[in-house]
Amino acid sequence: MSSIQTIQPVKGMNDVLPTEIGRWQFLEATARELLHAYGFDEMRVPVVEQTDLFKRAIGEYTDVVEKEMYSFEDKGGERLTLRPEATAGMVRAAISNGMLRGARHKLWCIGPMFRHEKPQKGRFRQFHQIDVEAIGFEGPDVDAELIALTAAFWRRLGISRVSLQLNSLGTVESRREYRARLTEYFRAHHESLDADSQRRLEGNPLRILDSKNPAMQSLIAGAPLLTDYLDEASRAHFEGLRALLDAMGIPYTVNPRLVRGLDYYSRTVFEWVTDALGAQDAVCSGGRYDGLIAQLGGEPTPAIGFAMGVERVVTLIEQVGSAPAAAQADVYLVAQGEAALRAALSLAESLRQHLPGRRIEFNLGGGNFKAQFRRADRSGAALALVLGEDELARGAVQLKPLREGAGSALEAPLATAASAVGHWFSQQGMSPSSTPR
Ligand code: ATP
Ligand code: MG
Repeated sequence: MSSIQTIQPVKGMNDVLPTEIGRWQFLEATARELLHAYGFDEMRVPVVEQTDLFKRAIGEYTDVVEKEMYSFEDKGGERLTLRPEATAGMVRAAISNGMLRGARHKLWCIGPMFRHEKPQKGRFRQFHQIDVEAIGFEGPDVDAELIALTAAFWRRLGISRVSLQLNSLGTVESRREYRARLTEYFRAHHESLDADSQRRLEGNPLRILDSKNPAMQSLIAGAPLLTDYLDEASRAHFEGLRALLDAMGIPYTVNPRLVRGLDYYSRTVFEWVTDALGAQDAVCSGGRYDGLIAQLGGEPTPAIGFAMGVERVVTLIEQVGSAPAAAQADVYLVAQGEAALRAALSLAESLRQHLPGRRIEFNLGGGNFKAQFRRADRSGAALALVLGEDELARGAVQLKPLREGAGSALEAPLATAASAVGHWFSQQGMSPSSTPR
């Protein structure tokens, strides 16, 4: 045993191991494919931004800005922050790169986000989001399309224990009157407010509605409803969205208590929740942010987006078992004897060339047949190709199915492989005999 102390991982920041990467890759590949199909383009933005960007975009009186940001001064004295979410950076990038000017963009990104929260099941300090933004669209058609995209995503992933909640926050202007009523209400119950809520009462009372403190919930339940103060245009927008969702057959529940945690939302807000993950029940949250771009110095541009919590969705995939946990080999090459080994290594090259996308594993490091077959089994391969001195002399390769029923899924690729094997033998100046099973 070494006396050197090992270095611990950072609290709340996880490694994703090869034994679980299959589910991540399934999620990412499905997202990439679906976002492409819906006309969204991937964009990549930095993980670090000016601290001010998040303060201005997310709002000072939010959990994220008040207590969760990883902020620091770099060696040049700049105030920087590890991004806690992606919308602010995506919008900043659209402005910095002169992408607005009346143009419309459907964009997405995926990557790690950082929030200094109390780590627990489904809540981490480094976590990942798929972030989707439609910039320059008034809606409600785009709102409906975005929601349809998320519904299609659950279907593709085989996830059914999710449901959609919907609300409208109205415009920033229409919220003024509501805000005044809300302030009155909470002031009248000042003694029941927790410290966070007392601070928010004067700064931004709407944030109190978003409180997770169980002790605050009955007070919040009695608060006036934002929906009763909606302006006419926002009401029409919301009705338009509901009609489109109905027409597409996408079920939802209107939740008048749904207020998203970030300041920049207006009109449509939505959240997909699940009853399969315990307390951390939000898997995808989004909404319209018509005022944000102007607020960040861009020309006024309507926009809507959502963010999906990748870790939580991966857990749902694990529960339904819709993707293999780890990658599996398709073909495993077993070889014995020096000449056969040399031949098998080059045969593996030829197979990889002829069977693109298939995982062809060559038994590295030798070993007797028994040991090699044990590895072949562990690789998950459906099929072993065996090449010993005998086979080599005969110009043949033995095919050994390793799994029940594996043959049918591999039939077409096998035909290709067989011709690759034949081709390879003739390249070696041998005429291949049949390849008995
Ligand atoms: P929550 O209510 O769970 O704190 P939030 O409102 O802070 O979520 P958003 O900022 O809307 O979350 O982020 C979008 C999604 O990202 C959430 O619905 C959730 O799935 C995921 N998410 C947010 N914070 C975390 C975290 N600390 N760890 C893992 N996933 C997270
Ligand atoms: Mg949160």
